[in-house]
Amino acid sequence: MKKEYTIPKKLLGGKRKDVISWDEDFMLHAVVASSRSKDPNSQVGACIVGKNNRILSLGYNGAPNTWDDNNFPWERDNKEAKYNKYPYVIHGEMNALLNYKGDNKDLEGATVYVTLFPCHECAKFLAQAGIKRIVYLSDKYNGTEDNIMSKTCMEYCGIEYQELSTDLQKDYMVSLKPDTGIKRVDK
Ligand SMILES: [Zn+2]
Repeated sequence: MKKEYTIPKKLLGGKRKDVISWDEDFMLHAVVASSRSKDPNSQVGACIVGKNNRILSLGYNGAPNTWDDNNFPWERDNKEAKYNKYPYVIHGEMNALLNYKGDNKDLEGATVYVTLFPCHECAKFLAQAGIKRIVYLSDKYNGTEDNIMSKTCMEYCGIEYQELSTDLQKDYMVSLKPDTGIKRVDK
């Protein structure tokens, strides 16, 4: 189709160059989500992104819906399993899956941005939901049995996983003022 008019070249190309990448943007959403976690030891956020870079859902680790988190056992080391958080807490990536109220088909082929590498339980649920890519910030449990099981599950289920390649802490300047926001630091 013939163009109606052409914009003169000298009027093009004035865009900002220090914008953050999509991967960084989605990871920052996951980081912000993690800030809501009441867990005193571990705050994990997740951001699910579908086709066309659309954010589908966010989640963080917390108590199940309607369980007052003032009355939740955040313990880790109690000898009685029922007094620890583990049987009850819902992980960030699982919450992000469950928080999505749209069409489940949208999750097919989606990417999950997580602040911490998913555990083996979440890995299988992500696989079952159709997630195909994981981008993570920290893999501090790398090499532990749970971590190996998680990676095994992802590999057999065809889920790619990769660490976010930039250092959000070092490479960006963060301001909470509009028009300043988050910018890449000149190197
Ligand atoms: Zn998990």
